[in-house]
Amino acid sequence: MTAPEITTDTIAAISTPPGRGGIGIVRLSGPRSTSIAAQLVKLRQPLEHARARLADVLDFEAAEAARIDEALVTFFAAPNSYTADDLVEIAAHGSPVVLELLLRRALDLGARLAEPGEFTQRAFLAGRLDLTEAEAVRDLIEAQTLTQARQAASQLGGALSHRTAPVKESLVELIALLEAGIDFAEDDVDVTPQVEIAERIAALTTPLASLEASYARGRIVHDGLTLALVGRPNVGKSSLFNRLVERDRAIVTASPGTTRDTVTERISLGGIPLDLVDTAGLREGAPESLEEAEQLGMRRSREALADAALILVVLDAAQPLNAEEKDLLATVENRPAIAVFNKCDLVQAHSAVAEVAGIPALSTSALTGEGIPELRDRILTLATGGAADEPGMLTNLRQHQAITTAIGALADAAKANDGGIPHEMILLDLYRALWALDSLTGQTTPDDILNLIFSTFCIGK
Ligand code: GDP
Repeated sequence: MTAPEITTDTIAAISTPPGRGGIGIVRLSGPRSTSIAAQLVKLRQPLEHARARLADVLDFEAAEAARIDEALVTFFAAPNSYTADDLVEIAAHGSPVVLELLLRRALDLGARLAEPGEFTQRAFLAGRLDLTEAEAVRDLIEAQTLTQARQAASQLGGALSHRTAPVKESLVELIALLEAGIDFAEDDVDVTPQVEIAERIAALTTPLASLEASYARGRIVHDGLTLALVGRPNVGKSSLFNRLVERDRAIVTASPGTTRDTVTERISLGGIPLDLVDTAGLREGAPESLEEAEQLGMRRSREALADAALILVVLDAAQPLNAEEKDLLATVENRPAIAVFNKCDLVQAHSAVAEVAGIPALSTSALTGEGIPELRDRILTLATGGAADEPGMLTNLRQHQAITTAIGALADAAKANDGGIPHEMILLDLYRALWALDSLTGQTTPDDILNLIFSTFCIGK
């Protein structure tokens, strides 16, 4: 067997995004980081842990190696680095040619080009991060809204793992209890009573169930949602869209169908990224009659419906529903939808309609702003399923599956216990639950799955 330091190769990558920038960073990690770095640049002082050093970058590919740039080199000694290996970061000016020169040279000197996410994968393999924390690194980098960044930061701080840790502890305790009962059955060790087992399993399930429920919100903060505004021309879809966007993104006019194409705008509603799709687009094909325009508008609406997670059916409060609108309402009946009676300012003493064709409704005026805050609230509630913001939410399918698997296994264990099935069999279910909880943090995640996860990271991270 070779020592681990020798088996670990040294990886290198450009960690800053491609293109020009004020600075650009080449990163090295592995046992040969410092020796390669010392040949890559001419250090003005020896490297020292967590200290920045000035250095000259030489043009190795020229006949005479003249200075081509100046760099700041920072060294982090194992195990106190991001990857837990020796790590060197060379911050040069952000010129792609200089950075590539450095990288080529590093590879010539024996480094290997890092795979996407390999620095973080090393941090994970070294036990510096668990899998949920590693995923949070990626999410933080990819965050588009501050709320997403905050969610990622909280997960990076271990918020999710902290929620499951006590459950896992109790589960291990229960397993130990049952194992002891089996191992020492002949030695008069008390067999854990059925009621106690049932209680313990229930106590494990409750926090997992609330964790599972957190996915409703965690997922949409992570992924965002598409919300389509549909309805007849001229009911005020674009005006409402603008109200929600709070900017004049879509063009609003008094004649139906000036908004030529579907307009999509990403907004952050209560921190949730929403892609608003305005389906007003009507002019295409220049409808000859109002009737034709209406038909086209409704067709657009139906197309947009297909992809939307949430639907706002916009209606004119001052007009009776027509057949097409009734049809549209019927189409969205079993989907997350809100019927919006817009132009309520035109209706004198309008009474609040709470529902139309089985779809919750409310009144708004895109003109005066009446009902808009309520509409935002309704959209938010519909989007989150009413789930509250909380630390340590599940944010991706992998995490959700781990938790549902654990819950399922516990349910099987509870059923087996109720049925008086031998403890050996109950234990199998409990181990399955434990395995699932461990897979959440990556303790029992197979290598190919790990590689798949880290391959979704960017190179250099
Ligand atoms: P769309 O075709 O459904 O997108 O409708 P628009 O947003 O283009 O609005 C059509 C017309 O109705 C425009 O003249 C708007 O100013 C007007 N409008 C929109 N919302 C309201 C509202 O709440 N009250 C009133 N009085 N007019 C509105």
